[in-house]
Amino acid sequence: MAGDWYREGLRFSCTQCGRCCTGAPGYVWVTQREVEALRAFLRTTPEDFARRYLRKVGPRASLIEKPNGDCIFYDRGCTVYPARPDQCRTFPFWSENLKSRSAWDAAADDCPGMGSGRLYSAAEIRRIRGGEADAAVR
Ligand code: SF4
Repeated sequence: MAGDWYREGLRFSCTQCGRCCTGAPGYVWVTQREVEALRAFLRTTPEDFARRYLRKVGPRASLIEKPNGDCIFYDRGCTVYPARPDQCRTFPFWSENLKSRSAWDAAADDCPGMGSGRLYSAAEIRRIRGGEADAAVR
């Protein structure tokens, strides 16, 4: 059965190393709800937020990056942590990382928090994977 390989749960505690927020270019997709949460957290206007922090990619919106590939909100840690988007909130319990033990281990090569710290049960992981906001990784 899918997910059977982590039936005993998985350990993860973020060390705040910043590797997942920095370096190689990528996308942090944001919905209107997530934009609104960030905008409220930063106490700025929709226009200002869009101008300073968003880029359109086809029909979707992503946070922009600094020229070196770092997340625009990364500054020796996440500067919008309480309002971070679901993509960040649910890491590392993404479908692609949960496909198999080897996929998890491969992702863990770049994330020192995976495999140690807090034990998440299989049920918790399934809730997080399903994207339920109240099941987010703390
Ligand atoms: S790479 Fe892992 S440990 Fe480092 S900041 Fe990202 S989630 Fe945390």
